[in-house]
Amino acid sequence: MKKLLLISACLTISYIASAQVELNYFLPANIKFDPAVPTPKSVIGHEVGEWHITHDRLVNYMMALDKASDRISLEVTGYTHEVRPILLMTITSQKNHQNIESIRSQHVQLSDPAKSSTLDVKGMPAVFYMGHSIHGNEASGANAALITAYYLAAAVGAEIEKYLDNTIILFDPSFNPDGLQRFSGWVNARKSKLPNADPNDIEHNEAWPGGRFNHYWFDLNRDWLVAQQPESQARLKKFHAWKPNVLTDHHEMGTNTTFFFQPGVPSRMHPLTPEKNLELTKKIGTYHAKALDEIGSLYYTQEGYDDFYYGKGSTFPDVQGAVGILFEQASSRGHAQESVNGILRFPFTIRNQFTTALSTLKAVNEMRVELLEYQRDFYKSASAEAAKDLTKGFTINSKDKMKLFHFAEMVARQNIDLYQQSENSYYVPLGQPQYRLIKSMFEKRLQFKDSLFYDISSWTLPLAFGLDYEETKSTPALGEKVSTIKMPVGKMMGKGAYAYLIEPTGYYVPRATYRLLNKNIRVKAATEIFYADGKKFDRGTLLISVENQEKISAEQLSVYLKEINEKDGLDVYAISTGLDYQGVSLGSPSFLSLKKPEIAMLVEGNVSATDAGELWHLLDTRFQMPVTLLSTNVFNSTNINRYNTIIFPEGSYSTISEAAKEKLKTWTLAGGLVIGFESAVNWFTSAGLAKFETKKEEDAKKESAKPKPYADIDENRGAQETSGAIFEADADLTNPLLYGYTSSKIALFKPNNIFMQKATGAYSNPLTFGNSPLMSGYISKPNYAKLKNSSCIGISTLGKGRVIGFTENLSFRAFWYGTNKMVMNAIFYGPLLSGEVGR
Ligand SMILES: [Zn+2]
Repeated sequence: MKKLLLISACLTISYIASAQVELNYFLPANIKFDPAVPTPKSVIGHEVGEWHITHDRLVNYMMALDKASDRISLEVTGYTHEVRPILLMTITSQKNHQNIESIRSQHVQLSDPAKSSTLDVKGMPAVFYMGHSIHGNEASGANAALITAYYLAAAVGAEIEKYLDNTIILFDPSFNPDGLQRFSGWVNARKSKLPNADPNDIEHNEAWPGGRFNHYWFDLNRDWLVAQQPESQARLKKFHAWKPNVLTDHHEMGTNTTFFFQPGVPSRMHPLTPEKNLELTKKIGTYHAKALDEIGSLYYTQEGYDDFYYGKGSTFPDVQGAVGILFEQASSRGHAQESVNGILRFPFTIRNQFTTALSTLKAVNEMRVELLEYQRDFYKSASAEAAKDLTKGFTINSKDKMKLFHFAEMVARQNIDLYQQSENSYYVPLGQPQYRLIKSMFEKRLQFKDSLFYDISSWTLPLAFGLDYEETKSTPALGEKVSTIKMPVGKMMGKGAYAYLIEPTGYYVPRATYRLLNKNIRVKAATEIFYADGKKFDRGTLLISVENQEKISAEQLSVYLKEINEKDGLDVYAISTGLDYQGVSLGSPSFLSLKKPEIAMLVEGNVSATDAGELWHLLDTRFQMPVTLLSTNVFNSTNINRYNTIIFPEGSYSTISEAAKEKLKTWTLAGGLVIGFESAVNWFTSAGLAKFETKKEEDAKKESAKPKPYADIDENRGAQETSGAIFEADADLTNPLLYGYTSSKIALFKPNNIFMQKATGAYSNPLTFGNSPLMSGYISKPNYAKLKNSSCIGISTLGKGRVIGFTENLSFRAFWYGTNKMVMNAIFYGPLLSGEVGR
């Protein structure tokens, strides 16, 4: 028996060793290829699937194809954070290339009901956007892009000629260049000469944060709608310039699966997507099925995935007259890996992706007229619905010009017309082609066909940005249509030479504060309302006196404050006297001195990469404040006294040693500031840093004890997840953690089932949920009961130190601008909190 096992093991190893394939393994038989077009191997130096393609070699190959083939024109549409080029190749017949601009301008008229009626779609090409590996460690897509691009450039014959005549292909070989580079580096550097299929091998177990994300650890496949990342911004320009009919999105899933193509679960489709979209997706699916049947690959459809959140690449097109298609291939996560279906080899995964790229191309061609007509009808029916809609548009207001600016930028990026009505107000009319997309951005939704969500259940964007907005029932005077959105600049108000004041409302107040503190300028914050030169100022107003500064002249100080006008868009008030009897004077002890934050943030281990990435991105790019990213290993062994602020993102901190916990306690007792989010709140309590009590799971357990059919097991578990919904909390605006907010009702994003008990102290619950906090999205009944009257912020005092725990994600995906200020207030004002607020 022992002997037999040994033999079979040897066989397995030799099988993997000889698994390398030639180019023709991927390609359909009986097709001739133009020898003048370089094969992938001739440029990248290895056969496709032999090594994982690195992004730079992928770019080299696409450039070589561009040079060799008159079917291809390549452009660089932008750059990633790590300055890798984002490519888009337009692939079509030479004849179409000669008329490309007129084809494009005619095509986009299909999405304009005012112009689309007279178009003869029978003579128009379809537009097909092919995208690969937006998750960098789902690499079969980008590696298949080598084969697909070669095929499109080099195949000869009537069929390909016809396809290229009838299709404009927009080809992006890598949606996430930084992630692809990170992942390919990992697996290539750990590949053995004898490929190792053991799932335990280091090749198959990437280090944190993995290649899925972009540079700041954002999931780019959640960013299509809000487009906060450069990769999405570059891509959207091309998407809107062309308005494709079909967009494909090649992913990977768990190793023990097979292959998935859309449609997803029909009951989980967003209600703004027309039923016809599902019909077309199903019809396209028959082409994938036929092609996969022919090569004998297993597959499934209509399960597991959905089409609800419009921020995903395969759902975003569905609200814009196109059909988005998600492909999910079982991942070899390396070059070969054991699976329940035998050894899963990388080339096999690439071949499935290539095969379905071709089956989509065939479908797009055979369904061309139907797809073009669908696009035209989609926008016509949208226009008809808009005319019937009692809501005519939305007015968006804010005292904070910068948040409003960023909101307007985001809306305009989606090819939506908007009108600026005043410095503090925009209007978005619904009567325009993007009617359905606008609805999806502004709507609050409380009714759902299904209680399972692959991603978040709500994203009402004005709430996320913390803006005031209202529906209008008639169209107001529109004002000026915005063509370019200009960043607002602040003004220097008054001519006093005694002190400067900056109000706390503006989004970039923390950036200005940090810049001043970093220049050793003394900055104080008001903890009382006061008046200066006749104007009322709120708590949290910054005070910079002209004298009482050690290292800076009055002239230099005024230069720095003008810089704040220009860079941060903040108004600065130059005040002439410290006295105004309506409130405290400027020398009052109620003004507290701010200290420059020296921040470290825990990363790696069981820290959520996306949550940590959001905070890193917030501090580094928005507020330009340095943050040391501290792995738990380093945290365990290093001296932490050089920091005064330590941030714990969502995560479990089981790898923090007992000695390190003691070190953290001692550091906190001496005056350190600890800030944590979501489940870090529980760790603070278990580590003895704080007393944040959370509500127990008892109710849900009682519920689950009732007998239920076994078949419902997944559904019932899923229905208890709070995947992401929006709730309203009541704020005490006099608490320093809420300085700068102008309304005591604040919208929060909740992506978890963490419910904090209120503290007993009179001043200890600055932000709480009331009796009916749900604004939009899905939460189960038992969880909602626990959420009601719970607390969102816990504060503990430990000696001179403060521990602040937030139950919610306050910097979600970089578009939740509205709650960022609480993070920054915790950093700047946390150390100033009175000991009486603690638990
Ligand atoms: Zn994916």
